Amino acid sequence: MAFINIMEKMVDLRIEEHIKKDDMCKCENCKEDIKCIALNKLPPKYVSTSKGELFSKVDQMMDRQNVLDIEVAVMNAIDFVNKRPRHESRD
Ligand SMILES: [Zn+2]
Repeated sequence: MAFINIMEKMVDLRIEEHIKKDDMCKCENCKEDIKCIALNKLPPKYVSTSKGELFSKVDQMMDRQNVLDIEVAVMNAIDFVNKRPRHESRD
């Protein structure tokens, strides 16, 4: 039996969307930092997975409040990392 934290999946999806439209660093370091910071603010939500089930489950398990919490956590994490990036500056 495999388990995944669907919070992690949701955070990944939100970060990808912000990266496309926001003016922010897109390097792997910053993406990982954003993900860690956001996930530390959110309670994990584990589900067992079998093939093909994953995305329908993610939708079912997220209510409006979860979606809002995730959005706030991701935006705060992006803000934090933008102000204090850990990557080497190449300028
Ligand atoms: Zn960076």
